Amino acid sequence: MNLVIFGPPGAGKGTQSAKLVKEFNLFQLSTGDLLREEVSKKNDFGNKIEEIMKSGGLVSDEIINNLIENKISNPEYKNRIIFDGFPRNLDQAKSLDNLLKKYNQQISLALNLKVDNQILVKRITGRVTCSVCNKTFNIFFDPPKTCDLKDCGQRKLITRSDDNEDTIVKRLKTYDEKTFPVLDYYLKKGIMKNIDGMQDINAISDQLFTIIGAVRSWLWLLDSYNRIFSKIKFLIYGSYSWSKYSSK
Ligand SMILES: [Zn+2]
Repeated sequence: MNLVIFGPPGAGKGTQSAKLVKEFNLFQLSTGDLLREEVSKKNDFGNKIEEIMKSGGLVSDEIINNLIENKISNPEYKNRIIFDGFPRNLDQAKSLDNLLKKYNQQISLALNLKVDNQILVKRITGRVTCSVCNKTFNIFFDPPKTCDLKDCGQRKLITRSDDNEDTIVKRLKTYDEKTFPVLDYYLKKGIMKNIDGMQDINAISDQLFTIIGAVRSWLWLLDSYNRIFSKIKFLIYGSYSWSKYSSK
């Protein structure tokens, strides 16, 4: 099955996606990785993308759709893609559905990690890193104690420069506004699941595993039913007349 995972910056989407990839043998498809992969090829197309990215411009939906189609059409990834950070808007969600349809696939589940914005702000602004061993702490949730190396005694605790509160509040607001229509789109399709992202990391992944397991079983059942049903149709109508009356 293919699925999409949503979550605002700081919600732990990266951590959870990695766990899902491992547990269900999924292929994680993020547009950032796709673009970096293209750039690293050092060909004309890659160079063009690099130019756009360096100038701070947005890579067009057309280019992104092409890159995504390359992966969707690859039999190796069929029905085992987890889309991460994509689709970002309604247009992208619709064209993703069309692309998947072309290769006889679909999105069967959209997961949304929900975390209060107040907590997200603290998670992000509170983040500090040891200058010696790079271990991260959070001044609100995981206060810096001693860390791993001997030299850490002389550490400085570093805050990322773009992690100030104003920037983050703005980023979260933009995320909410842009993502809402996409979430609504999946909600109306009946495949959206909200998950409380404020629980313990393992509690979240347990919940995700259960949901995905259930959807998988359901899809398997549906698939078996369809196969049996088409066999019965075949027995009743025969191959010729059935294909004649089939809507396909
Ligand atoms: Zn350290």
